[in-house]
Amino acid sequence: MRTGKIIEIHCKCGYLLFRYFKAGKGRLIKVLISRLTDDHVGLQKVATHSRPACPQCAKDLGIIMMIHGEPALKLNQGTIESIRI
Ligand SMILES: [Zn+2]
Repeated sequence: MRTGKIIEIHCKCGYLLFRYFKAGKGRLIKVLISRLTDDHVGLQKVATHSRPACPQCAKDLGIIMMIHGEPALKLNQGTIESIRI
């Protein structure tokens, strides 16, 4: 059975960026865009290799990459509020 939970991902400025279904434990390195349950940044529309920014403070959130044929955001750990599960 697949385990996981919905987590909230905040920018360091406090803005709620995403809600995401995270499978398993451990540090969040990347998010699969298809698995976002709430997207307050608009990642559905962005192109591969673009660098989305926080809508509130305009900090760089990371880079969009293809991972196993699926678009994903590789998080900029300096911008994302740390997440513990
Ligand atoms: Zn921000």
